[in-house]
Amino acid sequence: LNNKGKGHKNISQISFDEIGGQLSAKNELIEALDFIVDREKVKKLGIRPLKGIILAGPPGTGKTLLAKAAAKYTGSAFLSASGSEFVEMYAGVGAKRIRKLFKDAVTKAKKENKNSTLIFIDEIDVLGVKRGSNSSHMEYDQTLNELLVQMDGVKVSDEVQVLIMAATNRVDMLDDALLRPGRFDRVVNIPLPSKTGREEILKIHCKNKPLAKEVNIVEIAEQTFGFSGAHLENIANEAAIMAMRDGSAVILQKHFTTAIEKVIMGEKVDRVPSK
Ligand code: ATP
Repeated sequence: LNNKGKGHKNISQISFDEIGGQLSAKNELIEALDFIVDREKVKKLGIRPLKGIILAGPPGTGKTLLAKAAAKYTGSAFLSASGSEFVEMYAGVGAKRIRKLFKDAVTKAKKENKNSTLIFIDEIDVLGVKRGSNSSHMEYDQTLNELLVQMDGVKVSDEVQVLIMAATNRVDMLDDALLRPGRFDRVVNIPLPSKTGREEILKIHCKNKPLAKEVNIVEIAEQTFGFSGAHLENIANEAAIMAMRDGSAVILQKHFTTAIEKVIMGEKVDRVPSK
């Protein structure tokens, strides 16, 4: 089961409506995208063009989904990569891969008959850790420099515009060079969902599931304080599995309760060894 919704499946067709909660993040992101897309208007007003957007927040809060929705909103092709793909022992390899990524972005837009490609770099912190910090060394710097050069490049191609979004769980770790004006100069925070957010996310993930009338989504949202969207998706899925095990044709409230417990337990099991 593709429960993370990631991988290399082409599901870039998600829209902002299919992402629960995160209202202010969505608004902020849409405003930033309008800035990027409406270059002429922005130029006329004398506003410095925006190059890149960082989505910052805990794991599983929908950063990848938002990037995909951003691609759809701007009519762009979607190309994703992870910061760790560019980390190599050999000098110059990371930088070379960055150059290839931008070239691929142009090819992808052309292939899909689009004017732009949105490049999404997950775990940007792997590349953009503060220089001089322990985990930073020359090869990382070379790769980061190449990314900045590519972002600064006025145009990657005459016909294709490249939009850049990146995600991180630790924005505090990012090198200032990345956050300078004209680079990733917009940071949008993606927090854990609020109660209403959790309600919306649960509804999205229960849409195609047979729920018993007694199921109270508001109550489930109340019981899942601190859960991410990924956790909630998991709960909806687990609850359906519980119903199946019970031989029930519909999902009952108790199936959700057990699913919540299971997810909480799973978290405990996952977290203990990593400490
Ligand atoms: P990571 O930091 O681990 O890369 P992420 O923030 O990019 O995580 P996503 O990959 O976007 O998180 O979300 C993982 C899954 O969790 C999604 O495929 C979706 O099923 C669910 N999900 C997360 N947030 C939301 C949301 N706001 N609305 C609906 N589903 C969500």
